[in-house]
Amino acid sequence: MSAATQAGAVKKKKKKYQGRIYVDRERCKGCGFCVEFCPFGALELETDYNAKGYHPPFLAHEDKCNGCDLCGLYCPDFAIFSEKIRVED
Ligand code: SF4
Ligand code: SF4
Repeated sequence: MSAATQAGAVKKKKKKYQGRIYVDRERCKGCGFCVEFCPFGALELETDYNAKGYHPPFLAHEDKCNGCDLCGLYCPDFAIFSEKIRVED
């Protein structure tokens, strides 16, 4: 396989999945663990408040999320989870 073909194969593989985030805003207590532990810096906390007075997270950088669900694993309140969405190249 040529170098150019290999580079194309790597690029194609990288775009195979996109992450999607689901946030239950009212369960969130704004601790920021999900933001801190996201390995790609894809999340930020909203400036708006939920009913309890906390800032829930949102997917600020959609292109960076791959749906790994580390945010869901670290959330102590089960307020966020993700899924991998297969995307077409
Ligand atoms: S699914 Fe992974 S990449 Fe996406 S926001 Fe959560 S921790 Fe970050
Ligand atoms: S880890 Fe959970 S409770 Fe903490 S800010 Fe993120 S979604 Fe909210």
